[in-house]
Amino acid sequence: MTADVLIVGAGPAGIGVAAALRRIGVEATVLDRFRVGASFRHWPEDMRLITPSFTGNQFGLVDLNAVTPDTSPALSLLEEHPTGAQYADYLEMVAELEDLDVRTGVEVTDVTAGAEDDLLAHTTDGAAWPARTVVWAAGELQYPRTNGFPGAERCVPTVGIERWDSHPGDDVVIIGGYESGIDAAVHLVRRGRRVTVLDRDRPWEVVDADPSRTLSPYTHGRLREAHETGQLQLLGDVAVSAVTPAGTHGYVVHTACGESFGADGPPLLATGFDGSLELVRDRFKFDEHGRVVVTEEADESTVLPGLFLAGPSLAHREAIFCFVYKFRQRFGVVARGVGRRLDRDIEPLEALREPGFLLDDLSCCDDCAC
Ligand SMILES: Cc1cc2nc3c(=O)[nH]c(=O)nc-3n(C[C@H](O)[C@H](O)[C@H](O)COP(=O)(O)OP(=O)(O)OC[C@H]3O[C@@H](n4cnc5c(N)ncnc54)[C@H](O)[C@@H]3O)c2cc1C
Repeated sequence: MTADVLIVGAGPAGIGVAAALRRIGVEATVLDRFRVGASFRHWPEDMRLITPSFTGNQFGLVDLNAVTPDTSPALSLLEEHPTGAQYADYLEMVAELEDLDVRTGVEVTDVTAGAEDDLLAHTTDGAAWPARTVVWAAGELQYPRTNGFPGAERCVPTVGIERWDSHPGDDVVIIGGYESGIDAAVHLVRRGRRVTVLDRDRPWEVVDADPSRTLSPYTHGRLREAHETGQLQLLGDVAVSAVTPAGTHGYVVHTACGESFGADGPPLLATGFDGSLELVRDRFKFDEHGRVVVTEEADESTVLPGLFLAGPSLAHREAIFCFVYKFRQRFGVVARGVGRRLDRDIEPLEALREPGFLLDDLSCCDDCAC
């Protein structure tokens, strides 16, 4: 049977869009290769959300980490900065509350045009799921960038570490000094390790009105605490050129300017994400900066009509939507685009405008001060 909507990914983007679609009576089928909130369940056990949760909903300020206007992780979890596992619990609660149809253990490898105007979502078991529309919400976290320089495959992506205690060595080198890298550094310094963070820029010095371009206040606070121990070294303007093994368990991180840094265990990689869009790269257009191009009206592919995008890869004009509180502003826009394709009454989605889940005037993104 042809589904009205398939959503690929049961993270905050997939669950949020599915919940928005319920408002217009559309029942999406959500496919996930693991389970609801899987990316967050893979976080190191004490990694926490950097955006704070707070019970502001009743006063018109929806909890920054909520994926529907009437839920709040702060209220459900009684935490300001939930751990990944706690936030996954919250997402599962929303999926239950909204009675969403989530199919787990289904990994989508591509989306292609099917018969007439339909689409086909292809899965690893060779099946093809027919659908009138597909929302790509498979995120970035499960697809870290691991090929930036020779020897990168010897490093361990920070998001794949289960427990900081289990990372070996007294001297740790972290490549990449933005949120993930600094988060790892803070946790390792707290455990008494000597940590060197290398970055081609100096992200810890950037001050910008857009939190997607600067460390969060939460992380700055923790960074100051780590600095005070004397165990942390932040080195900017350093381009890593290779990582080679040394001795039985050691590694050497080489840089373009000829310096090298020794580590007792595999260096940690915090150099960003290729993202799941790599899987469906040919189904979208990308601009000269490598940012995905989708329609402003509906976040729909300009290459494969009926394929929509939700989540942190979204970009429009000067704005990047890489936090939940940013990309959720387009849930109503995607739901509206899907609803139009399915010939549904989309009026009920207007209720998403005031709480900030239906941002369709992107003129503020021309000179984004977010
Ligand atoms: C250190 C760190 C801290 C962060 N802190 C915050 C924060 O405080 N606040 C915030 O808003 N954001 C934060 N983020 C970013 C946040 O993780 C992302 O914004 C969020 O995960 C994006 O949601 P998503 O639903 O698009 O993707 P995901 O949460 O990654 O969900 C994607 C889902 O798709 C599934 N999937 C993947 N590929 C496939 C496939 N091929 N087929 C089927 N299913 C698939 C996965 O199993 C997963 O369940 C942080 C990121 C990092 C690295």
